[in-house]
Amino acid sequence: MLKNQPISHRGGVQRVMYKRWQTKNEKIGSVLIGGGSPIRVQSMTNTDTRNVKSTVRQIKELEKAGCEIVRVAVPDLESARKIREIKSRINIPLVADIHFDYKLALESINQGADKIRINPGNIGSKERVKAVVNAAKKAKIPIRIGVNSGSLKEFHNFSNIKDRAGSLVKAALEHVKILESLNFYDIVVSIKASDVPTTIESYKLFATKRKYPLHLGITESGTLFRGTIKSSVGIGAILNEGLGDTIRVSLTSNPVEEVYVAYQILQALGLRSTGIDLISCPTCSRCKIDIIKVTGEIENALKNVKVSRRYKDKPLKIAVMGCVVNGPGEAKDADLGIAGGNDTGLFFKKGKPIGKVKPKDWVKTMVRMIKSVAR
Ligand code: SF4
Repeated sequence: MLKNQPISHRGGVQRVMYKRWQTKNEKIGSVLIGGGSPIRVQSMTNTDTRNVKSTVRQIKELEKAGCEIVRVAVPDLESARKIREIKSRINIPLVADIHFDYKLALESINQGADKIRINPGNIGSKERVKAVVNAAKKAKIPIRIGVNSGSLKEFHNFSNIKDRAGSLVKAALEHVKILESLNFYDIVVSIKASDVPTTIESYKLFATKRKYPLHLGITESGTLFRGTIKSSVGIGAILNEGLGDTIRVSLTSNPVEEVYVAYQILQALGLRSTGIDLISCPTCSRCKIDIIKVTGEIENALKNVKVSRRYKDKPLKIAVMGCVVNGPGEAKDADLGIAGGNDTGLFFKKGKPIGKVKPKDWVKTMVRMIKSVAR
C-alpha cells in the first residue's frame, strides 16, 4: 500500500504554507476531489427524495449558495428510481446515501448516481458486495465508506471504548479492505465520532494508513449556533493538519446554511475564498451607531453580490467599524470600510477616508462600492 505523505499547499488568504496530505484523485461527476484539488463543499438535502419537485428546488438553492456536490438519502426503491430525473434537472454531482440494502445501491447506480455512500461490511453476502462493486466499476463512480460512531452496532457502548479513534479507524479499514480485495480503489472515506477530539484523532490516524480522499464532518453537531461552533472547531482542526478533501457541515437547520458555514471555515484557514471577507468590531461605548444591525444587513446583502474571479484566492476585505477614532486604524488591511460617527459614517478605501454617509444609506452605498471595486 502506498504510504501517505504531506505536500505543501499555499493558503490563499494568509499565505500560510500548509502541509496538505497527498490523496488519490477521485472524480464525482464533473468535480474532482483529492490529489490537490480545491477542498470541495457539499451538503445533503432534507426533502423527501421521492418528491422530485421539492428536492430539485432545494438543490437549486444549494447550488446558488455554492454547494459543489449534493447528497440525497435513498431509503427505498422509489427514492432510488427518482435519481435520474433529479439529476437531469440539476447542475452539480449527485450522491446517493444508502444504508445496508444492496438493491438500493444497484438501482441508484443504474439511475446515474455520481457516487454512492454505503459501507460494504454492512451489505451482507460477498455476492451482494461484488454486485455493487461491479456496478460501481462499470459506471466508473466512487464509493464512500462512512464510519459513524452513532450508527454502527459495534459502537453502541462508544463512551466505554478506551481507544475510540483506533476502533473507528479499524472499522473503516475493514470496510476499505473489502473493496480492495475486489480490486476496487475508487474510495472516499469519512470517519465521524460525535465528539470532536475523537473525530480529529481518527482522521489523523487514518491518513497514516491509506491515501484515499477524506470527506470531513462532525456528526450530530447540532443547531445552527452550536453546530457551527462544533463543526468549525472540528473540521477546522482537521483541515489545519493538512487533511480533508471535501467537507460537509451537518446542521439541524436549512442545508443552505451548511454551505455558508463550510465556506467560512475554509476562508478562515485561507483554503478557499468566498470573494468577500467581512470584518466588524465588537463595538464599545465609543460607538454611536447600531453597528450590530448594520453589519447584519450588509452581511445579508453580500450574499447576492458576485465579485470578480480575481478574488478567488484572496477575498476583498470589508470592514464595518464603530468609531472614527480607532475604526480605520483597526481595519487598516481592509479594502473598503465604514467607521461610525455621530449620526454619520466615514467611508474609507485602503485605510484612507473618502467621504461621509448617513447611516440609513450605509448598506446601499457599501454594496454599490463593492460592486464598482470588485467587478
Ligand atoms: S472600532 Fe471604535 S467602537 Fe469599535 S470596538 Fe474599536 S474603539 Fe470601540
